[in-house]
Amino acid sequence: MTRDSNHSLDDLTHPGQLVQLVEDDSVRCLACSHRCLLHPGRHGICQVRYRAADGLRVPWGYVAGTNLDPVEKKPFFHFLPGSGAFTFGMLGCNFHCDFCQNWQSSQSPQLTDPENFLSWVERISPIDLAGMAVRRGAAVLASSYNEPVITAEWAHAVFSQAKQMGLKTIMVSNGYATPECLEYLRPVMDGYKVDLKSMREENYRAMGGQLKHVLAAIEKAHALRYWVEVVTLVIPGFNDDPAELWDAARAIRGISPDLPWHVTGFHPDYRMQDRGPTQPATLLQAAEIGQEAGLRYVYAGNLPGKVSSLENTYCPGCQALLVERTGYRVQIIGMQMDGRCTSCGRVIPGVWSASDRATNVAA
Ligand code: SF4
Ligand SMILES: [Zn+2]
Repeated sequence: MTRDSNHSLDDLTHPGQLVQLVEDDSVRCLACSHRCLLHPGRHGICQVRYRAADGLRVPWGYVAGTNLDPVEKKPFFHFLPGSGAFTFGMLGCNFHCDFCQNWQSSQSPQLTDPENFLSWVERISPIDLAGMAVRRGAAVLASSYNEPVITAEWAHAVFSQAKQMGLKTIMVSNGYATPECLEYLRPVMDGYKVDLKSMREENYRAMGGQLKHVLAAIEKAHALRYWVEVVTLVIPGFNDDPAELWDAARAIRGISPDLPWHVTGFHPDYRMQDRGPTQPATLLQAAEIGQEAGLRYVYAGNLPGKVSSLENTYCPGCQALLVERTGYRVQIIGMQMDGRCTSCGRVIPGVWSASDRATNVAA
């Protein structure tokens, strides 16, 4: 791996596959639901995919950060609990959320003063990146930090290598993947985590997206039998109205009561510094709404110690404690390797062993 300062992101690209040729020499990008129509020389909304003379060029051959994280940090709670997830990020995003927690890497290509932001990337091949995950002892390879859907072809190449090395693969996404993108990734990807950031169209418009596409992606990923978990960062004055939380819980419940829903606490970041962090009582209320709406697995995070029982997994059949979590310390207590509750035998949906295929099926 070589370090590359003063890089040109346009050079770190490769011919794209999620693309459709349209009339007058333009192409339509099919990676995310913006479906940008790109005339020659034009970049998409994400600014990292562009129409070159030889077709659509897409990010390739680099990472802008790697780390070995607990898989619970993504967060995935029903996916090889306690495993290490070797995580890589690239640059750019198709949204522009004021509360972005990874703005240094996700928003950097859009900013005009690159001196203040990441000025280096590391070149690497798919096989070397997957090999790094194995050498670090990870069971999972994750594409995260920036929005991974805009670099789907790179993820496909890396995940293909990872699968051959016996790893599970996941994406941590804003849920703006198109059906074509989810189908394209399915042979090499196991888990898809979606941020459901709001249930209000005006909030999504401010972030640069549309709610309907996010809900459609959750439904499509579930139908394709990815392992899906949904996260809502509960932000005071933005999406913490109980009516909106009810809408979110009902929407998820409408797809499957077995989809885990994580309600997590906001802390002031990036361009949203005008309000304080989420109060524990608000998170508790959000979790109660999820449970009352009929979701079987509701988790509240980011406030260690304060809402700890809401980090555990309980059997919906007999209420036995199955997985105990204290921060990132994980103990499997009442569940067998095949995902059955030790007490009552109920099958808990999730990916519990390296040989499991993901399914959010009802028990
Ligand atoms: S990934 Fe999305 S934003 Fe980027 S070019 Fe494709 S459709 Fe446009
Ligand atoms: Zn049970």
